[in-house]
Amino acid sequence: MLRLNHLDYYRLPWNLADNSISWLEPTFKCNLACDGCYRRNDNNSHKPIDVIREELEVFNRLRKCDGVSIAGGDPLTHPEIVEIVRIIKEMKMKPIVNTNGLVLTRELLAELKKAGVYGFTFHIDSKQGRPGWKNKNEIELNELRYHYARMLADAKNISCAFNSTVYEDTMQYVPELVKWAEKNIEIVQVMVFIIYRAVNNEKVDFYLGPKKIDMSQLVYNEEVKERVDIQAEELVELIRKEYPDFDPCAYLNGSEKPDSFKWLLTGRLGTTNKTYGYMGKKAMEIVQAFHHIINDRYLAYVEPKMTRIGKTMLLLGAFDKRVRKTFFNFYRNPLNIFRRLHYQSVMIIQPVDFLEDGRQNMCDGCPDITVWDGKLVWSCRMEELMSFGYNVRTYPKDFLN
Ligand code: SF4
Repeated sequence: MLRLNHLDYYRLPWNLADNSISWLEPTFKCNLACDGCYRRNDNNSHKPIDVIREELEVFNRLRKCDGVSIAGGDPLTHPEIVEIVRIIKEMKMKPIVNTNGLVLTRELLAELKKAGVYGFTFHIDSKQGRPGWKNKNEIELNELRYHYARMLADAKNISCAFNSTVYEDTMQYVPELVKWAEKNIEIVQVMVFIIYRAVNNEKVDFYLGPKKIDMSQLVYNEEVKERVDIQAEELVELIRKEYPDFDPCAYLNGSEKPDSFKWLLTGRLGTTNKTYGYMGKKAMEIVQAFHHIINDRYLAYVEPKMTRIGKTMLLLGAFDKRVRKTFFNFYRNPLNIFRRLHYQSVMIIQPVDFLEDGRQNMCDGCPDITVWDGKLVWSCRMEELMSFGYNVRTYPKDFLN
């Protein structure tokens, strides 16, 4: 398997107190039941506005952040979603709606835009049991992805991201999805691949203090038939079969393993039929640092009118050799002076891993931190808090023997 050296890349500066994003869950209700979901569906779980406001105030008190991912459940099922977006905007953060898109209409989109929505992340993959799209593979689902990307583009200047959970049997489609994103670089700003994880009962036992815990009640416990250890680098290796130059520029490491990649970011510069090159680590460092100097927070999402200024970004070539190479690739054809160059992010997320000695390798500098009981907690592990009041510890199987 391909091994990347984390020291060759820029370590994103995000941390618990100063991050690009925070994660708000206004409801646990969802209108789909995707495989791999980390939250138990609950139809009676819409939080009242004053509770949501309190959670946002916890973020504001404890953590700088540029954007708030409004997740769940599906946040569009919340009857006051427009008001939630308005409050976040009022609190000077970018409201980003994370949704399966099922109930998004042009009318609702117009209302959300008026309230200040900054972007959408659509979760679309083949294991959602989506009405009308059952048994479609990832490639066939591109038609649906295009529908949402077009809808946002028509509404003008709303950031458009897609994420899909990647399983052992669907990872083969990743290069095709990266290709689809390239073809739609004018209207798709971010493509995210989240590698599937579930409780791995074969490797570790779970404890709450001295008590062994039966994890079978938890939603992310499954009789796992598929691999739950796919590594971010495996996806890079696959994508390189289609794009040999594909190379990340920045990452978040694991909390226990500094050389593991938890968030692995690649920035590409291209047009709808060609990728001219990639961002290097210096360019990404300048972007994050500059944004922090100007706005006092690290950059999360970027609006489409900014991702269109790829030619201006080429100036970063003065500091970054990879961008310099992109500059020469692009202007090799002098007619390109009249063409737009777009920026697009491809992010690979590798959630929690259990190491051989039982340690839990989380995302160091987790952006998806949410609020539970007035505290900042990992959103991917909140079911443990809701069930037991604490996060469980893990030890290698039968470690006492
Ligand atoms: S630690 Fe969990 S919640 Fe945080 S980014 Fe990683 S997978 Fe997401």
